[in-house]
Amino acid sequence: MVKKGRGKAPTKACPQCGAVVHSRKVQCDSCGHRFISARERKEKEVVRRKKPGRRASRAASGSTLKTQLLEERSRLQRRLAAIELLLESE
Ligand SMILES: [Zn+2]
Repeated sequence: MVKKGRGKAPTKACPQCGAVVHSRKVQCDSCGHRFISARERKEKEVVRRKKPGRRASRAASGSTLKTQLLEERSRLQRRLAAIELLLESE
C-alpha cells in the first residue's frame, strides 16, 4: 500500500528501461515510456467492458494477422495522407 504525499519522494521503476522516476511522472525521463496508473488502468477496463461489440475488438480476436496488418496499413495511410496535407498547406 502506498501513501500519497508526506515522507520521502515516492518513486517507481520504469518497466521498460529500469530508470527510477518520481511516481507522479506520467512518462519516463530516459526512454519516454508512458506509465499507466492503477486508476487509469481500471478506467480503461471499464471502457473496454462497456463496448464489447466494437469492430476493433472483434477484429483483434477473430481475424488473422494479415487482416490486422492490412487494417493497420490503411490506418497509417490515412494518417500519412493527413500529415502530407498539413505539410502542403504550410
Ligand atoms: Zn524508461
